[in-house]
Amino acid sequence: MTGSMLKTQSLPYCKGCGHDLIAVHTTKALERLGYDPLDVIMVTDIGCHGIIDKCLNTHTVHGLHGRSAALGAGVFFGLEDTDKKVVVFIGDCGATIGLQHILEAARLNLDICVVVHNNMLYGMTGGQTSGLTPQGFRTTTSGEGNPLTAYDICQLTHTAGASYVARIAGIGDISADLEKAFSQKGFSLIEIMEICPSYGVKLNPGRKLKDVVKESGREFGEWLGNRQVFTHQQGKKNSDLLQQLQLIKKQFSHKLDDLQTIVISGSAGEGVQLSANLLAKAAMSTGLEVTQKGSYPVTVGVGFSTAEINLSPDSVNFHGISIPRIAIITSTDGLNHNRNRIQQMGSGTLYIDSSLTPPETSAKIISRDFRSMGARNASIYAMMYYIQESGVFDMEAIYHIMEMEGKSGKLPVEKIREALND
Ligand code: SF4
Repeated sequence: MTGSMLKTQSLPYCKGCGHDLIAVHTTKALERLGYDPLDVIMVTDIGCHGIIDKCLNTHTVHGLHGRSAALGAGVFFGLEDTDKKVVVFIGDCGATIGLQHILEAARLNLDICVVVHNNMLYGMTGGQTSGLTPQGFRTTTSGEGNPLTAYDICQLTHTAGASYVARIAGIGDISADLEKAFSQKGFSLIEIMEICPSYGVKLNPGRKLKDVVKESGREFGEWLGNRQVFTHQQGKKNSDLLQQLQLIKKQFSHKLDDLQTIVISGSAGEGVQLSANLLAKAAMSTGLEVTQKGSYPVTVGVGFSTAEINLSPDSVNFHGISIPRIAIITSTDGLNHNRNRIQQMGSGTLYIDSSLTPPETSAKIISRDFRSMGARNASIYAMMYYIQESGVFDMEAIYHIMEMEGKSGKLPVEKIREALND
């Protein structure tokens, strides 16, 4: 025995609005299929149709304009119980705005049903033309009739891979059509044609719904696909990614009693971000709080590469660095990108490759041939030199993290260790 999906028979639409018909027959179809209200998740969009939420006893989610198909897909992936039904309501305007979301859900053949309320214009905002307004149909923004061909959302979703697509007229009892769409396995879309009485009927006097559709070159009918259904389980196959991460446990010691701000900078492809990441993780293994931020040009393979790392025994509340206490510079690109703030360092230490001329700065300068390990390893070597020279934390922490991250065999760890012990 199922409960009633509708809280009221008095729905909040203008008199004669087709949305009323769709809401009533959607709930009727779902009830006939045996769904309890709490077995159904109704995802609605912006537009007149979306005000149905408050009238439903089902779960409801109301999204931003055009996003209800994407939201519905997200709800589908998050469900533990595969017997729940996700029904997405969207208007012709939302379907235009979020067309890619609908196509992507169809391409994946997700097991959700999208009900497109195509009343041929933006009803809620004053009757403007949408991408699904039939050609020749008059709206408040196309007084001579829409000059453009509408998107054929049925053909688009059918071609994208949907299991089931149908276009029907929103006239009479449409519950059997909706029942068919809801009972499909995989992605289904049903486009229900209506004419908004408040704008469409007034602007197109005497025109009949079915004639408008046919004269615009569209057909009523249904289209079946045979793409494999993307199941709930497939969607969950990567859900344990976080659990695959190795936990970094505190097992080493550090000597910091306040915030240490570190900039590592060199050239793209020279291991700057990797060295920052290893430094950050090694610091975490000593119990320090850490932030890491990378910055580089959009074209990631050329120019500078800079990383900012904050280490602190207390919480770090801002991940950016203005003037660092430690600057580690391994190439001309890195130096040029950080020259100004290095010049403003009133204390701290500048670790700089010996091929470079240090700028004027009050920081202590340590110059060393970091590039002797090869350009690709210069940042790693310089970062490890900083840990050893400063004694900021136990040197074993960095070797442990390199081993844990599988870097020991890929980086010249032993060669660097020998160089550090020289
Ligand atoms: S404005 Fe149009 S679409 Fe909106 S409720 Fe009224 S008749 Fe329906």
